[in-house]
This record gives sequence, C-alpha cells and structure tokens, in this order.
Amino acid sequence: MHRKNEHPIEHENPHTHSQSLESNTTPPGGNATAATVLDTKGRQIYSVRPADSIHHASEVLKEHNIGALLVRDQNGHVVGILTERDIVRGFADLPGDTYTKRVDELMTTEVVSCGPEERLLDMLHKMTDGRFRHLPVMDGEHVVGMISIGDVVKYRLRELEYEALKLKQMIVG
Ligand code: AMP
Repeated sequence: MHRKNEHPIEHENPHTHSQSLESNTTPPGGNATAATVLDTKGRQIYSVRPADSIHHASEVLKEHNIGALLVRDQNGHVVGILTERDIVRGFADLPGDTYTKRVDELMTTEVVSCGPEERLLDMLHKMTDGRFRHLPVMDGEHVVGMISIGDVVKYRLRELEYEALKLKQMIVG
C-alpha cells in the first residue's frame, strides 16, 4: 500500500495537465491580426504600374528600403506583385537588358492576400506554404496595407519581450 504522497503524480487528475496547457497556451501571435500589425507598422502601400521599367521599380524599392511592390493598373486594381527576388531572377534569365524590361514581364500575377482580420499564424502559414515573404492586406477590393514576414517577426518579438517582462514582474513581485 502506498503511503500518502509517495507518488503524488498518481493522485493527479490525468486530464488536468493537458487541459491547462490547452486553455493557457495561446498560438504564436495570440489574437493579433493583420490589422493589429498594420496599426504598429503603418499602412503605407508602395506600388508601380505594369508598364514601368524594372529600373524605376528598383529605384522605388531602394528609396523606401523595402523588398516588394504592388503592381496596380490605372484604376488602382492590383494586377501583380514584384519583389527583389523577381528582379534577381530576371538578371539570371535575361542578362543584359533586365533594367529596361517592363514590370509586367517579371511580376507574379496570382497574388495571394489576406484580410484585415486574418490571424498572424495563418499569415505565416500562407507565406511559408507559398514560399514568399510579402502579403498584401485587402479589405474587399481595396488594398489597406502590405505586411512582410519581417513585420510579423518584429511584432512577435515585441510581444515576447513584453510577455517576458510581465513574467519577470510576477516573479520579482
Ligand atoms: P518574396 O519572398 O516575397 O520576395 O517573393 C518570392 C516570390 O513570390 C516572387 O516571385 C514574388 O513575386 C512572389 N510573391 C511574393 N509575395 C507574393 C504574394 N503575396 N502572392 C503571390 N506571390 C508572391
């Protein structure tokens, strides 16, 4: 016969641990959404036209220190996305005259986007599954922002720092 507390673990409800894990563990990014990230990083959208030259697009990327541009037609509709990777690929495929090529010769036309209420984890899944690092945020027909994987990581790091600080304060009292 076991003495009381000899095997305290056996007296625990086997469901208690996993239940508390499930209820206490929030997914990475918690309840944060695309809109939350835009609130901290801003809603500026940089875009070019399909007929612009790759040289012009490179200048816009450099000027704003960014890695992707939305391609919009004269009505403001999104017709593609052009990132620095497309330009590098262009140099490999079309050596020599890449600068004078049109944006619509190198852009990706099937643009994957997310809504303002999309959760951080789902956005990360979209980016890793699609092997790209930029996600336009669309509210219906309207582009309301652009989020890069770097923005998500930065946001999450700030959250983790805040959580660590809260834990420290709880311990120190
Ligand atoms: P990135 O990693 O964002 O530089 O993009 C890698 C490739 O994916 C490039 O060919 C981009 O044109 C393309 N791309 C980037 N973002 C998206 C997106 N949201 N939807 C579809 N394609 C994209």
